[in-house]
Amino acid sequence: MSKITVCARFRPLIARERQERGDSFCIERIDDDAFLLKDEKEGEFKFNFDKVFYQDSEQADVYAFMARPIVHDVLTGINGIIISYGQTGAGKTYSMEGMGVLSTVKSSEGILARTVAELFAHVSSSKEYADYSVKLSMVEIYMEKVRDLLDLSKDNIQIKETKSQGIILHQITEILLTDVEAALRILSTGITNRAVGETQMNLSSSRSHCIYLFSVLHELTGDKRKKCAKLMLVDLAGSEKVEKTGAEGKVLEEAKMINKSLSALGNVVCALTRSSKSKGDGKENHIPYRNSKLTRILQDSLGGNSRTALLCCCSQSPANASETLSTLRFGARASHIKVSPRVNFTGHRQMKTVGVLSPAKDESSEYVGAEVVE
Ligand code: ADP
Ligand code: MG
Repeated sequence: MSKITVCARFRPLIARERQERGDSFCIERIDDDAFLLKDEKEGEFKFNFDKVFYQDSEQADVYAFMARPIVHDVLTGINGIIISYGQTGAGKTYSMEGMGVLSTVKSSEGILARTVAELFAHVSSSKEYADYSVKLSMVEIYMEKVRDLLDLSKDNIQIKETKSQGIILHQITEILLTDVEAALRILSTGITNRAVGETQMNLSSSRSHCIYLFSVLHELTGDKRKKCAKLMLVDLAGSEKVEKTGAEGKVLEEAKMINKSLSALGNVVCALTRSSKSKGDGKENHIPYRNSKLTRILQDSLGGNSRTALLCCCSQSPANASETLSTLRFGARASHIKVSPRVNFTGHRQMKTVGVLSPAKDESSEYVGAEVVE
């Protein structure tokens, strides 16, 4: 049993925050894992996390502390999940994508690009190179519908549960990744698809949850089974309260859906926390995974068979202190969850070829045959 890793990250003030409140901050650093949060209405609170990334921290620091150990474990067959949580504009997407996955500014590379680099550095230096396969799927959850970002015609992916594989996304596109460059191009295609959908539907990425799913299979010599691990990187929708946004009509509906799935996530976290605290007293807790698509997809991971890290992204402007407080409280609750991930094996799964994004040919991203798990 181990606890999940919970970190807080404070991005530098943005121009609007400076205009509103000058150079003042609502947090006061104590050390690398503790700080005070001062809210004008609610008072002063001390928070302790596994690590606090203050505004001068680098993307590389965040990756090294939170993601690298998980990525290494994924290569040995242990599931991993890294979630970015926080209000809109707090730095969730920046932490995952950096300035865009194809950006040439190395220092700004986010968790995604670093993860891909590390996966392939390991796989290609391994003597068993040919025995690894790394696949990528990408989905977005918007208004309680799961959209395949690698095939926009699949706009209502069903979530199913099977005995052998647990929770699966039915007929999701899985693209076999051949190298870092191809992987980043495919990621970028999915991210662009997200933006295309957003323009068509007139929505902003802060209203949907995005899940990047890497599946790593490792064939073992002399063994019919394969080690298989899932790595999920989750860029959540903004966690801000509806009232503050002054939303109406469709925007209000969206906000309610976001609140529904994030409050479902909050309830799951609370139930898991209670469950972790009461382990050993013989009482089984009901965990309400089925209350939203988000919690359903994350069920296997949050349920304990995944190394888990949560990045609480925050603004440090006094203008956002109450949202920051609510993000930090979510993180503090989640930090009590205990997990016991294990090495996963699979039999030879039935694969069906349906269309793969050809990685190297040209810019037009042609689909030529992806493997989809039935
Ligand atoms: P979110 O995804 O939480 O809505 P973003 O990641 O899009 O927020 O961040 C909002 C803005 O702040 C973006 O312009 C982003 O580039 C910038 N930003 C976020 N975090 C940082 C950081 N740690 N350092 C520098 N700029 C950041
Ligand atoms: Mg975002």
